[in-house]
Amino acid sequence: MAETDWSEQGLCRTADPDALFVEGSAQNRAKALCSGCVVRTECLAYALDQRIEFGVWGGMTERERRALLRRRPTVTSWRRLLETARMEHGRTGAATTAVRQAS
Ligand code: SF4
Repeated sequence: MAETDWSEQGLCRTADPDALFVEGSAQNRAKALCSGCVVRTECLAYALDQRIEFGVWGGMTERERRALLRRRPTVTSWRRLLETARMEHGRTGAATTAVRQAS
């Protein structure tokens, strides 16, 4: 699978592209959309590994991702870490579980 093939399955593919690049309380609506997305894990891993600085990706705001990256500076592949978590905890909760463990 190519690095971004997952994006074709994202719930946001038909949403307004700007809806994920919002600030303040509007980010909660964007995060709610991500919570039901089947590629949340892949999306979050991509954003963390690519150090994407703007927007909600995989249910996390840029601020939350920055904090996570600061807390776990030794993680070299978020994709590998989150895929491992998915194998251990199932698809739906992998991103949430991995982030919780990383905290
Ligand atoms: S997790 Fe959110 S930002 Fe990522 S593909 Fe799914 S809906 Fe889009």
